[in-house]
Amino acid sequence: MEVRVKRPLTVDEYAKEGMEMLKYYESGPWPSHVAELKKSKYPIEAYAAGLAARKTMWAAGSAKIRYVYTGFIARRTRDGKIAELHFRVWQPSGYLYSTEKLRKLVDFADKYGLGLIELAGQQGQMIISVRPEVADEAVDYLRNVVGTDIGATGDTIRELAACVGPALCEFALYNTLEARDKFLTHPKIYEWMSNQLFPFKFKAKFSGCPFDCTRAVHRADFGFIGVWEGAPEVDQELLRRKIEAGEVDPAKLAANCPSGAITWDGKELKIDGSRCKKSMHCIRAAFPAIKPGKKVKIAVVVGGHVKGRFGGKMGKPLAVVNSVEEAMDWVVKTVESWMEYMEKGVVKHKDRIGDFIMKVGFKKYLTEILGIKEEGKPTLHPSLRAGAVLDDEERTMWANWAGKIVEEYFGKRP
Ligand code: SF4
Repeated sequence: MEVRVKRPLTVDEYAKEGMEMLKYYESGPWPSHVAELKKSKYPIEAYAAGLAARKTMWAAGSAKIRYVYTGFIARRTRDGKIAELHFRVWQPSGYLYSTEKLRKLVDFADKYGLGLIELAGQQGQMIISVRPEVADEAVDYLRNVVGTDIGATGDTIRELAACVGPALCEFALYNTLEARDKFLTHPKIYEWMSNQLFPFKFKAKFSGCPFDCTRAVHRADFGFIGVWEGAPEVDQELLRRKIEAGEVDPAKLAANCPSGAITWDGKELKIDGSRCKKSMHCIRAAFPAIKPGKKVKIAVVVGGHVKGRFGGKMGKPLAVVNSVEEAMDWVVKTVESWMEYMEKGVVKHKDRIGDFIMKVGFKKYLTEILGIKEEGKPTLHPSLRAGAVLDDEERTMWANWAGKIVEEYFGKRP
């Protein structure tokens, strides 16, 4: 019997099949991403082939750009016919663009790329697809005409995220935009940018309040979150009016406070500042009758990340400071030690800062690496204590606790 092996289709054959499928996506009264893509120089056949093959037709490529060591990703179609470069482009703090700047970026995408700009990723990086043959010239244009630079990929300082903060948001407790700018232009950060010197990526995020829109607690090696000391401020008169209008239920406010800091005696609402966990619940429910306190601070968290050798971690509260500059020395010491410990072989490639702290232990990190020895420091902010990178003592404590539960259910191990 003759056995016939089905030959896999070529990219062109898949593309032919896929283009038929795309007709369906262009039909109907709704906006079509295919119709929009066709207006750009995007190789729609590659997309069509991917749809028909049920796998992307793009594969990793390689490229070299003069004096650029990070910030671009090369890819090519599986048949090698089309190549493109993803340029990651540094964005302004809070992604606030002037019309002029945005127009320049659009011109850039048209002149050197496929006419496409992607606003993608948790970090808010802007991605512009560029034609490889004009990459060198494109970098010059980006720097000299647009006035920004190619961003970051790999083991370096990645795009820094700042929430829109004081530009638009009524909850902002500090100037996140200015803080990000200052962080970015710190001489050491500037020196490290654009070079792949670290064991893995480094991210910093700036959130104006505990709502933490940039997710600094979970996703930043260093996070800076606006907080306040003590209780939120209550405008009793305004609150009374809101209660009378049925906008706020004070009993519910008290019941839903996660730390039980709120009491309501039928006339006045009181908040115990020593118990307030900065959850923002009462503020969200009764703003502006309840507002953050006036004694504004910045909580610094360290070691948070999603990707890393030992899994995701929440940032560990390091200190409460008055300005981001106060913490810059710790940032520099942390990064320098992270690199040093890689040379010693303790930190491995792909260990994030949270992994590094876990390996050396949080106490040693504080006292020996950061040199924080004063009584009362670091101030572990109560609202930021949950989760985080465990130190040796905490790990033993939780391991014992878990062991006890196992013992209770399954009996003592022989
Ligand atoms: Fe506003 Fe806070 Fe979100 Fe920043 S983190 S945008 S201040 S709610």
